[in-house]
Amino acid sequence: MSRTVRGTTRVAAVVGHPVAHSLSPILHNAWLEAADIDGVYVALDIAEGGFRHVVEGLRTTSLAGVNVTLPFKEDALAVATEVHPRARRALAANLLIFGPDGAVTADNTDGLGLLAALAEQAPQFEAAAGPVVVLGAGGAARGAVGALLDAGCTDVRIVNRTFARAQALAADLGSRAFAAAEAEAAFVGAGAVINATSAGLANSGALNAPLAATPASCVVMDMVYKPLITPFLAQAQALGRPIVDGLAMLIGQARPSFEALFGQPPPAGVDVRALALKALNP
Ligand code: NAP
Repeated sequence: MSRTVRGTTRVAAVVGHPVAHSLSPILHNAWLEAADIDGVYVALDIAEGGFRHVVEGLRTTSLAGVNVTLPFKEDALAVATEVHPRARRALAANLLIFGPDGAVTADNTDGLGLLAALAEQAPQFEAAAGPVVVLGAGGAARGAVGALLDAGCTDVRIVNRTFARAQALAADLGSRAFAAAEAEAAFVGAGAVINATSAGLANSGALNAPLAATPASCVVMDMVYKPLITPFLAQAQALGRPIVDGLAMLIGQARPSFEALFGQPPPAGVDVRALALKALNP
């Protein structure tokens, strides 16, 4: 079924560089169509260095707002007139809502997506029940640590290839830092291990993680979803650990973004995961 785009159609976008392969338009337009909302969601590629200029122009238009992906998540925070505390703590925003008179509200729904993915694919996981290991110390790791602390985890262990970055993040957010060589010690007793590094992405370096040191019940999650089952998740599966994939997180961050952009939660009963999987594996 095709929808008619009119002068009244509410428009939202994902902005990034590159952005042509973003799954967000597929998710949001499926929800818009199912809910019969007069809206459309597109992808806009912005050349490096052009982000501020573009957003300064768009903020006073009728555009509802934008999701922001790499490499502009830090820039997104800088253009906001209001910042949600979780975006401030993440030092990054993945959502800008344009209000009247050029107001720009920044939020970060990645942490909500992480918790939604765990709740959906590993409902037995309880953040407050024990230590959780986060691999990585970049923007995604920072968001994950914040979300886990918010969810009641009192022992977040950050393991990163560059130890100084793990130390800086741990000192800033109130958690513990481990060097990559100490990963085994960090994994002992963990309720979950979450890969927030970019290792595992197709054509990037593989992650060398001693998952055998985790308890049998430890939930293993990867934020990377291309491929859906990364070498890291395959290693966890081989050990019999329950797994959570990065696509569930992507869909989990899109839900609150949709509500903020279009004024109502996504409709139930739309299998956006199947649509996303079809786009990932045409
Ligand atoms: P980033 O800021 O560039 O950080 C990259 C991190 O990966 C750093 O900690 C880096 O370690 C580590 N790293 C890179 N290659 C490595 C390797 N071969 N071995 C070990 N560590 C390695 O990136 P980011 O923005 O945090 O994003 C991280 C990943 O999360 C990306 O793949 C992104 O697509 C994904 N993500 C997914 C979702 C989702 O919805 N599923 C949402 C957000 C992000 P050093 O500090 O030593 O360089």
